[in-house]
Order: sequence, then structure tokens, then C-alpha cells
Amino acid sequence: MAVPKGDCDLLGQSVPPSSRAQLGWLSPQSFGGCQSAAPVGVPDGSTEGPVFCLRAALHGGELNGIEIACRVAHRRDPEPLSRTLVSLPIVNLEGFVRHDRYIGDRRDLSRSFPGDPDGAYPARIADALMRDIIRHCDALADLHIGSFYRENLPQICADLTVPELAALDEGFYGLSVLQSVAPKGSLHGAAVAEGVPAVMFEAGAALTVDMAQVEAAVISNIGAMQHVGMIPGVIKAQPARPAFFKSRWVRAPASGIFISDVARSAWVEIDQRNGAVLDPITSSQAEICAPLSGTVSELAQNQFVSPGFALYRLGQRATQDELDSDGEALKQQIRDKARDGLTVPADSQVLPED
Ligand SMILES: [Zn+2]
Repeated sequence: MAVPKGDCDLLGQSVPPSSRAQLGWLSPQSFGGCQSAAPVGVPDGSTEGPVFCLRAALHGGELNGIEIACRVAHRRDPEPLSRTLVSLPIVNLEGFVRHDRYIGDRRDLSRSFPGDPDGAYPARIADALMRDIIRHCDALADLHIGSFYRENLPQICADLTVPELAALDEGFYGLSVLQSVAPKGSLHGAAVAEGVPAVMFEAGAALTVDMAQVEAAVISNIGAMQHVGMIPGVIKAQPARPAFFKSRWVRAPASGIFISDVARSAWVEIDQRNGAVLDPITSSQAEICAPLSGTVSELAQNQFVSPGFALYRLGQRATQDELDSDGEALKQQIRDKARDGLTVPADSQVLPED
């Protein structure tokens, strides 16, 4: 039976049940006379349940994530929610206004967690975010976008060998999942280390808004909220979700103008030509062939590249032999999730609950 809840206490304010508040988070990057609070949307429900956090724009130019976080928060009527959604659409305000990935000192906030109150500038911001918001949450979706003119498939990245993360991933509706261990210093890695189940959610390219990807992501995140018990009603059965338990980057063999022959989400066969890097000075070209068969889950836009620049990420399904040596949790995930195809199924355009 649903248990009525009291006020939500966050950022020094009390949000009454069945209401919506717009709070502000002031990080150590603010200073007197020139303070801009990062927006924090808080639709607060009427009954007890988990606190679910959607966090975007740790990298300032990741506009898809901003739109996803805002739309999920604004579409929810607070009253039927079990507990609280915390939506942080723009953490890195400095980078956002400059169309820039980094914070003011040119460092990567996404490699600074869990932070340090006495540490360097980004470590202090990370520490404050953990203390003020993340530790108050029960689950986290850490929204990111392809970096440096690369575009991602909309996908979940999580270490599915961790049961709590596999369980959280189960709720994200309709999108592919990529087995990955959180990088050192990432927010989702720090959250998991402190007992808050967290996955990284990637969708699209930076500095633009792709509404098809945004809409698919909104549906997927609302599915996750329903899965963790925040939204009442019957949970709609998941469509087939592609699962990639291995991936490999294909890098530029030389510097020059990269021109791709394949599209994001394409399937490529081993040794297939994917594109070329053209040298405009000598008119030479270096062909790029697939080192293995797989799906293009991340793709660089056509651009000037240096040797070693990551051009394609090929997602692979694991072989049975590999699964046999990787433990029962991984095999269970494969059994449950690995399916053919990569396109978001048409019926995923229907909201699970709306
Ligand atoms: Zn990012």
C-alpha cells in the first residue's frame, strides 16, 4: 500500500508533497555579485518511493541531455509520483554559455568525481555536487553526448556484471545497452562507489539538438522511473534491446580529412571499407577497413583528424565461449537482452504510462 510522504528537503528548501519546485544549485564556481544557480527541477510526489536523478550538461555543449532532462521533469504530474524526481539539466553553466565542453579552467568535470573540498577547482565542484544532490538520490541517469564531433547511438552504458546496475538498466525502455566500466573520475562511477546505482545514458552529438534522439531518450527514462517504482501502473513489456558486451574503437591511421562511407548504427563486416582519411596536400588517402564485424555505435563526423583519432566504435555481441568464461551474471544478461537489430522499435514511441 502506498505510504504518504512528507516534504522533500533538498538544497536547504522543503518541497511539499504533490508539488513542483524549481530550485537552484550554487557550486563553488559562483562568486558574490555574479552568482548563477544551476537549475534543479523537482517534481515531488505524494507517496514514499525512490529519489531518481537525471543529470545533464556536465559537459557544457551537450544540448540533447538538457532537453531530455527538462522534458522528463516537465511532463510529469507530481501527484502520482512515488517520491521525487530531481532534474539537473545544466550542471556546467560556464561551459553551456560558451558552447564548450569544459569548465572555466579548461579541465574536464567528468573526470573529477567524487571530488575533494580542498582540491583543485573541478574537484571542489564535484565534491559539492555529490554532497548537495547525488548522495540524496537512490538512482541516477548520467546523461552524456558524443564528444569532439562524434555522434552516439542513444544507448545505456553500464557494467552489467554489477547486479544493481543490471537491475537499473532493465528499466530503460527500448534503447541498446553497451557493457562498459565507468571511467575513473566519472560521476556515475563515483555514485556507484557510494551505493547509488547509476548508468551513463548517451544520445547524439554535441552542440545540436536531435529531436528523434531526445524523444526516444525521454521515453526510455520514463520507463526507468516506472521500473524503479516511481510511476504507478502496469509496466509495459520491453521490446527487443540490442546488447553489446564488447566494443572496439577504430582509429585514424593518418592525419587528413576523414570521410566516412558508413552511417551510425550500420552493421559492418570484417575487412569492409568504412571510409578513408584524405591528405589534401599530397592527394594520398588511407583507407579504413573494419578490423572486426560489428555495429557502428559511435561515429565521428567528417572532419580533419590526427593519427589515432577515434573514428568508429564497433559494438560486438560476445561469443558463447567468451560468455562461458565471463561469469553467470553476464551470461544472464545476454540471455535476457541480446537481440538482433539496432533500430529503436516503432512501438517504443508509445510512452509506457502516458
Ligand atoms: Zn559528456
